[in-house]
Amino acid sequence: MRNRLFLKLFGAFLLLGVTATLPVDLAARWIWKRSLAREVEQGLTQKAKLIAALAERVAARDLQAFARQQSAIAGARVTIIASDGRVLADSEHDPATMENHAARPEVAAALRGGKASSTRQSATIGVRYFYLAIPFRGGALRLATPMAELQTALQLATRSVILISLLSLALAALLAGLYTRGVTARIEEVKTFAEQVASGNLSARVEERGGDELAQMATALNLTARRLEENFRQLQYSRDQLDSVLNSMQESVLAVSSDRRIAWANERMSKLLGEGLKMGNALVETVRDPEILRSIQTVLETRTAATGRSQLLFPGRTFQVNVAPLPEGGAVAVWLEITAIEQMEKTRRDFIANVSHELRTPLTSVQGYAETLAEMASDAEQRELIEVVRKNAARMAGLTEDLLALARVESGEDKLDLQTMEPVELLKDLPESAAALLKAQGQRLEIENAAHQPVKADADKIRQVFLNLIENACRYGKSAQGITAGSFDEGREVYFYVRDHGPGIASEHLPRIFERFYRIDRARAGSAETGTGLGLAIAKHVVIKHGGRIWAESELNAGSTFYFSLPALAAVGTSAS
Ligand code: ADP
Repeated sequence: MRNRLFLKLFGAFLLLGVTATLPVDLAARWIWKRSLAREVEQGLTQKAKLIAALAERVAARDLQAFARQQSAIAGARVTIIASDGRVLADSEHDPATMENHAARPEVAAALRGGKASSTRQSATIGVRYFYLAIPFRGGALRLATPMAELQTALQLATRSVILISLLSLALAALLAGLYTRGVTARIEEVKTFAEQVASGNLSARVEERGGDELAQMATALNLTARRLEENFRQLQYSRDQLDSVLNSMQESVLAVSSDRRIAWANERMSKLLGEGLKMGNALVETVRDPEILRSIQTVLETRTAATGRSQLLFPGRTFQVNVAPLPEGGAVAVWLEITAIEQMEKTRRDFIANVSHELRTPLTSVQGYAETLAEMASDAEQRELIEVVRKNAARMAGLTEDLLALARVESGEDKLDLQTMEPVELLKDLPESAAALLKAQGQRLEIENAAHQPVKADADKIRQVFLNLIENACRYGKSAQGITAGSFDEGREVYFYVRDHGPGIASEHLPRIFERFYRIDRARAGSAETGTGLGLAIAKHVVIKHGGRIWAESELNAGSTFYFSLPALAAVGTSAS
């Protein structure tokens, strides 16, 4: 680049030098030629006037000798011509042999009384002359000098001018060369600096010499590089901080690019995956767990967070995986090991199930004996006391049953017996199943069915959900309008509901009523009218196991509606394919 730039700049300067020198050279030569001609003409005119003045006193017969003599003194040919054009005397020739000169242009002008000059070949001598004639005694006096002399002087002058032009051109070329070399060297420095920055060396700087535009550019570039370096350092610092935070986390973190390749992993994840983890490798080669791959795929496609459980990747270990989209495309998956938590949960469930199981037989026997004792009681007071014992034993039995049911449904030991069902099939038997309950509470149950999409459901379990909700509606939502159970289609789901027109539930309780043992009216907990506080928790688990959701909507003094959804068969079919 340097050579090319140097040649271009140098060539331009040289061209500039030539274009500037050439006219000066031509003009100088022209002026020189003109002034030389004028000088010769003036010289000859003065000499002619002097000779004319001297010739005034010379007799006609001595004119020839006079002409020769003056020619030698003046260094020019002298010719004296009469008014009719006859040559009276000539320093170079015999006038008698010379033709009439009246027609010679300079002579003709002088005969007319003026001074004139001309340049031409002499007919008499055959040499090219510069002639000058002035009027003399009615005729003319003419001086001639050979052009050869003039030419020689002119050539000498031309040579000098050309020499001077060439010398100044050479000097200009030398200066242009030196200047161009200086400029190209500085541009070369800037280029090297730019290349260094481009290759990542942000500490590179260019020398700031002088105060011209190049120096200003160097200052601006240095400032840019300094800022870049500073920003990069800060970025690096933030990145290091983020790295340390992510590496100190209990969770394993894996970032995936939008084309499903491993982009980054924290230390915990590197340890977890070991040799199998290679940056840039396809995700599917590293994480061979269909559920996690599906979650990541969903996040990449929908750009919304998703969660999954990984049990297959590391046998015996369970992870909860939260996947979130990254702003620039791609996704980040955070793996939290929940093996110990699950183990604890299982231990807790087993314990509750065992205790409930162990309590079942003694409680049944307490209830039985209490009933027998009640029959044997002799007075009303005794019967009343025994009835309290029986009711509490029945309550405890109910509680152990519910605890067992919840433990079973939570553990997943109780497998669902899924059948394809029309929504109406799940609803139609409810009045009969809940007949005793409705009768005891003096409530009516109305069925409305608007759903047509079949669902996959375990009919017994869903009936249990409905009975829990109807029981609650009877117990807490008693009203003259009775209870309604129904269904309707909602997109790719079927919604089921149980509606009452009772006092309703305050909004602050709504999100919590599905928790275990959560009761709105805590003061009444334990009384005969309330349940165990587990009914909705059991219902929730059953619905979730079906792939659905459960929630409640309510307004104080306007009643409550409990909804649960089940995926329509069509939707189950597509997601499974
Ligand atoms: P419980 O066995 O106490 O009925 P649930 O889990 O079935 O337990 O219900 C939790 C609480 O939610 C109940 O104690 C009750 O306060 C409230 N609740 C449930 N259903 C209704 C309803 N239909 N109307 C008003 N409150 C209700």
